[in-house]
Amino acid sequence: MQNPFENALVQLEKAAKIMDLDENIYEILKQPDRVLMVSVPVKMDSGEVKVFSGFRSQYNNAMGPYKGGIRYHENVSLDEVRALSFWMMIKCATVNIPMGGGKGGIIVDSKKLSIGELERLSRGYIQKIWREIGSDKDVPAPDMYTTPQIMGWMRDEYEKLLGHADPGVITGKAIADGGSEGRETATAQGGVYVVRELAKKLNLQPGETKVAIQGMGNVGGFMAKLLSADGYKIVAISDSKGGIYKEDGLDMGAVFEFKKQTGSLSGFVGAQNVSNEELLELNAEILVPSAMENQITVLNAKNIKAKIVVEMANGPTTPEADEILAEHNVIVVPDVLANAGGVTVSCFEWEQNNKNERWTEGQVFAKLEPMMVQAFGEVWETKERYNITMRAAAFVKAIERVASKIKI
Ligand code: GLU
Repeated sequence: MQNPFENALVQLEKAAKIMDLDENIYEILKQPDRVLMVSVPVKMDSGEVKVFSGFRSQYNNAMGPYKGGIRYHENVSLDEVRALSFWMMIKCATVNIPMGGGKGGIIVDSKKLSIGELERLSRGYIQKIWREIGSDKDVPAPDMYTTPQIMGWMRDEYEKLLGHADPGVITGKAIADGGSEGRETATAQGGVYVVRELAKKLNLQPGETKVAIQGMGNVGGFMAKLLSADGYKIVAISDSKGGIYKEDGLDMGAVFEFKKQTGSLSGFVGAQNVSNEELLELNAEILVPSAMENQITVLNAKNIKAKIVVEMANGPTTPEADEILAEHNVIVVPDVLANAGGVTVSCFEWEQNNKNERWTEGQVFAKLEPMMVQAFGEVWETKERYNITMRAAAFVKAIERVASKIKI
């Protein structure tokens, strides 16, 4: 498995060269400001105590409080969390929100925990990191396998320890817990705004454009719904166990119903079962990786048939694969732009909490759309100006902003 933090540093180095970045700033940006490593003991339902390892990486706060999700997954590692916190710094600066970069994680297969165990783990993690977070310091949020309910427990635990309310300490909360309308679909909605802009540039006709989506969680699932509503032909989709493919397009309503009934995609009538690896190489104009990092690598990049890759997952393409895709003229819309709608609406939630306001879903998306359109336009313009990839362009744009705020 490739080290995601090394990948992130390769991306940083490339951007630093293109923009001739000040060496002192480059040195500062090569590592996180602070990394917390914690052990979280949890009394399991059996009475036995299990100790889980958790992390919080605070990469950089030049633009505003550290910001980023908390991931619950068996493969969480220090390097993964560091990489993800670095990408959050770039992401927030790409869309120009007043937030820095952070990320957390716990090594756990949360599907194996009871609801009570999950609550004790989530509260226990906050007990270990609470002094280093806060609405003006570091603002966590959901990521893989963490939910609005978990965010609610975390906010409650934090406020108990703090002794007073601070609803903006965590975003991605349920509406009843101070969450924002639109946060659940925001990542996918932001991705769709970006796809619409790209479609204008490339003259894409949705009805004639096939899309393959890897992942069916909060991001991939909503992406499938929204893109099919825009008229795109979703020919393939997968969950963590595998996927399905139908050359002339899947009826997404029926696919979601089938998954709800059977718990899996396998055996969906009229479609062919495919593995997650096979899905990436199918015949489709747009490929939307919406699951894990390191999916498109040096091993499969040359087999990708899509002409456009929209990275809704964080870090799905390795730097070597990026080069191969660029050589084949594949346009990669980088994660730091494509999936930035989630953190942008998190920022709106934080703003509403801080000002004690409640915005409607209409207000939220009316603010999100121009921000995504603007970020896309800036990245596109930078890519044309330097004749570089969209990823390099997003990094150049974002690092310019972060660097201008660093005082040395
Ligand atoms: N986990 C999401 C991401 O990777 C959202 C982070 C947030 O809302 O702070 O962008």
